[in-house]
Amino acid sequence: MIKDIPNSSEYQNVGIECLLQAYDNICNVDNALSPETPRDKIWNYNQIVLRTSLVLIHQGIEGLLKSEICKKSPLLLIDRKRSDWKTLPNSGDESFSDFNTIGGDDLLKTFYACVNLKEIHDDFPTHYEDIRIKRNKIVHGLGTENLTPEYVLKLILNSFTYLLGKDSFWDSVLNKFYEHPGFEHDDSHVEWQDSNQYMRIEYLNVFLGKGELKKHFSVNITAREYLCPFCIEKAEEITEEGILRPDSKWAFLNPNQPNSTDMSCIICRTDFGVIREDCIKEDCKGNVKYLLEDEDLGDEEIWVCLTCWNEETKK
Ligand SMILES: [Zn+2]
Ligand SMILES: [Zn+2]
Repeated sequence: MIKDIPNSSEYQNVGIECLLQAYDNICNVDNALSPETPRDKIWNYNQIVLRTSLVLIHQGIEGLLKSEICKKSPLLLIDRKRSDWKTLPNSGDESFSDFNTIGGDDLLKTFYACVNLKEIHDDFPTHYEDIRIKRNKIVHGLGTENLTPEYVLKLILNSFTYLLGKDSFWDSVLNKFYEHPGFEHDDSHVEWQDSNQYMRIEYLNVFLGKGELKKHFSVNITAREYLCPFCIEKAEEITEEGILRPDSKWAFLNPNQPNSTDMSCIICRTDFGVIREDCIKEDCKGNVKYLLEDEDLGDEEIWVCLTCWNEETKK
């Protein structure tokens, strides 16, 4: 008998972790940039980060392909002639990890034998082939052309979206990089949790742009953007200069229609209701307001404009 057979979710988890680590390695270099040294020189110096990220992407994709194959049967992954399987009575047990598993072309063909074609993006085979060739050149020491961080980041986002669908990249980022242990220890080097997520999305926005990013979200992030009352409530800080609030806007009408009253924040993943009414502030063109919850106000209600955060008291 073959023992210790892996399951689909284990492979999927490993696949996602490889892709996320590739992404995090790139962010870490960019987050340590200084104003003195030009970014392109830093990336020439850090080509090793991009090359190892590409190897990780290949590893991550293989994990995701294996995860899908496992849903049919993990035995399809075994790369050994059946005549050599020790599975008959009295032939002893063998662990799955003692077997070689299929890779490359065999893996791709077995994957497509197991999935519904409609669920996989048309561009996936060329995407995988491109990564496979570059990865082989890297691991065999044959060198590769200079890689750019934008190019490798796009490969990571596409790998998620092509295989796991829209939102899968960002959901994985939010799930993996949350609850930093520093929060339990009042570590002053660790920022408010969601502000890390704001920085992550702003980072991608600066280097890839919303046009590229929108392919990876089910919410239309190129629509008009709004403040999220839930994120603001968590992040508001009272300082000597007054109340400081984050001004980054990642909440969107969902669906994005003129009379829509449902909104989704992609940072805290909250869906909430709004009303459509013009902001009373003269220079603000906003027409989306949110009712702030406050128990002490009696008959009064405070409505806030999600474009400029102007608070309006109503009876
Ligand atoms: Zn939010
Ligand atoms: Zn306003």
